[in-house]
Amino acid sequence: MGKGVIIKTEEEIELLRLSDLMVSETLALMGEILKPGVKSIDLDKKAEEYIRDNGGIPSFKGYEGFPASLCISINEAVVHGIPSDYEIKDGDIVSIDCGVYKNGFHGDAAYTFAVGDVDEDTMELLRATNESLYLGIEMAVVGNRVGDIGYAIQHYTEKQFGFGVVREMVGHGVGRDLHEDPEVPNFGRRGRGIKLKENMTIAIEPMVNMGTKRVKVLRDGWTIVTRDGKPSAHFEHSLVVKKGKPDLLSDHKIIEETIKNNINIKNLK
Ligand code: MG
Ligand code: MG
Repeated sequence: MGKGVIIKTEEEIELLRLSDLMVSETLALMGEILKPGVKSIDLDKKAEEYIRDNGGIPSFKGYEGFPASLCISINEAVVHGIPSDYEIKDGDIVSIDCGVYKNGFHGDAAYTFAVGDVDEDTMELLRATNESLYLGIEMAVVGNRVGDIGYAIQHYTEKQFGFGVVREMVGHGVGRDLHEDPEVPNFGRRGRGIKLKENMTIAIEPMVNMGTKRVKVLRDGWTIVTRDGKPSAHFEHSLVVKKGKPDLLSDHKIIEETIKNNINIKNLK
């Protein structure tokens, strides 16, 4: 951040699309192999292997010292969870955030997977967070402002469901740097903030808690968890701001297709 908003050329957008495709494919692979008993560190190894085999570099590895390729945040973990020996259990929700650097550009997307028999309240949290992402995306058009995106997400998840939108972490511009200007909060006021311009590339990523919006950092210095220990969900797309309708760079459909074929993962819909 700090360089100001960088409008991308069509060529740059196509390179971003390739990075985001690899991110989406990596997340789809995770949706294929996720099941109870899998260690989160094993997911990380598979993801890194896939990314490097395809000529990419995991964006997160070494980013400000982050030790892994994926952020894997389970249950009350909001974001920035470090892959570990933890064995994923039936009933866990597993948020996987992936970044890929290729051809000079970063792709960035995230998805929260429901492993096995996740309770209905938690499924509602996942559905509402995912739906709020698309409400935010609808606002990402030329002429709107960043506050329109945040308002759509916050209004839906907080007003309609009584969930808590995390304030400390926000979406962002994305391009040659993983985090570029502008910040894209998941809360805000309509008509406020910077104006969205054609070919701005941004990542929208609601982080929504079932209970309090308040969070804290674990002693590992990375993992953000909810203050009340209740679950948290996270979904993220990268996209291009356009007139009328944004152009999605990441692809959740291929993730959802693999989930349909994995009996260990519960469908959102
Ligand atoms: Mg992001
Ligand atoms: Mg991300």
